[in-house]
Amino acid sequence: MNKITREQIELLIELQQKEAAVAKVQSELDGLPARIEQIVSGLKEFEAVINSKKEGLSELKKVYRSYDAEIQTNQGRITKREEQLRSVTTNKEYQAILKEVEEIKKASSRIEDETIECLDKIDAAENEVKEKEKEYLAEETEVNQQKAVFEADADSERRSLNELLSERDKISGKIAPELIKQYEFIKSYARGIAIVQVKESICMGCNMNIPPQMYNELHRENELKTCPHCHRMLYVIQ
Ligand SMILES: [Zn+2]
Repeated sequence: MNKITREQIELLIELQQKEAAVAKVQSELDGLPARIEQIVSGLKEFEAVINSKKEGLSELKKVYRSYDAEIQTNQGRITKREEQLRSVTTNKEYQAILKEVEEIKKASSRIEDETIECLDKIDAAENEVKEKEKEYLAEETEVNQQKAVFEADADSERRSLNELLSERDKISGKIAPELIKQYEFIKSYARGIAIVQVKESICMGCNMNIPPQMYNELHRENELKTCPHCHRMLYVIQ
């Protein structure tokens, strides 16, 4: 068994704590782009809804213009028929043209009704678009504020990450290189936890009992001991 001082054990524990803190900050930083993406994507969906409402509005305006053109055309036809009336010679012809004019007027009147309905729809759609645009602006402001908060958080997290990393390096510089090597090796297969406490004969890494003799030795001797089950380095609080 390797001899080890209490100080080295304590440094290993401290190193592990720093590394856990580094991992926590790093994972928060790593998750940040996804969090920003999430709030921005909500805004993009909203934008798509507004665009489709605008398309609906422009379709309605197209319909309105076609009604208007039809009314103009009919007006032209009526004027033409009325001119014809001046030059007709027979009553039959006269009546026929009058009837035709009547039909065109009826058709125009139907289109005018539809035009009014269409204008109401345009009004409603325009109001809806305006309303949605207002909501969008409010949401956009909120998203930008949130983004600014996230980015400020990221800055402070990056600063604390750098501090933690330099503290970690300082600690690891005080630990014997072969001990660091062993620590790293155990970490690589023991889910990142290389050194664990033993409480009442139970290894806190794997929750298994360690032999009573080993438990006693942990209290008495300055030897590096590893758990017979999970192979992590062991220590006791004395
Ligand atoms: Zn264990």
